[in-house]
Amino acid sequence: MTNKKGQVIVITGPSGVGKGTILKNVMEADKSLCFSVSATTRAARPGEVDGVDYYFVTRERFDEMVKDGELLEYAEYSGNCYGTPRKPLEKLLNEGYDVILDIEIQGARNVMKTFPEAIFTFIMPPSFETLEKRLLKRGTETPEKMALRLETAKRELECFKEFQYIIVNDKLEDAVEDFKAVIRAGRCRCSEYIKNKRGI
Ligand code: ADP
Ligand code: 5GP
Repeated sequence: MTNKKGQVIVITGPSGVGKGTILKNVMEADKSLCFSVSATTRAARPGEVDGVDYYFVTRERFDEMVKDGELLEYAEYSGNCYGTPRKPLEKLLNEGYDVILDIEIQGARNVMKTFPEAIFTFIMPPSFETLEKRLLKRGTETPEKMALRLETAKRELECFKEFQYIIVNDKLEDAVEDFKAVIRAGRCRCSEYIKNKRGI
């Protein structure tokens, strides 16, 4: 247990831009980072593990979580609900971990209200065509869901100015290094020093 309180790191951007892929690489390299496991009503994709990738819950359970104030933020996205459980996040922050929230834009805006000092990063595709290709290549969506996600992506891409950091995910290695640099710069902020000051 340290006295340091962790920081909230938000990563957002359109579906298929590579948020999960960047995160996986960054988290493998930095063990002081934790991932905030969201609750969702969407079905698990092949290979996704309950409690690791998401808490897969029914709509009834999700509504109950909302009603009981268990979620820090939540939003509906592409026909499903997603939300950040509040307690596990607070626990990890108090234990000194920096916690990454991979969330869509409405959720990120809500976190700006509750954690204004968090780090907000928007991942940008090199082009809309590249985004389409990546989403198609991932092969997780039906044609209808894919069209819906791409429609949403157009609106999301217009919001990039609301975020402090923009990382273009063209070459994956560069995007990973950029995100590591953002996190590192975040740790060096004056506000972090004041928050965790112990000595002099
Ligand atoms: P998101 O989490 O933003 O929805 P993913 O991480 O699932 O996106 O990435 C979508 C697809 O794009 C995956 O198949 C992934 O392997 C691929 N991908 C991610 N980043 C790159 C990149 N820089 N170059 C090429 N393909 C990428
Ligand atoms: P996917 O279904 O592709 O895993 O996620 C769809 C979108 O939901 C992504 O943009 C992802 O960042 C977002 N998302 C995942 N968890 C949460 C959450 O807890 N809250 C919000 N607001 N969005 C989330």
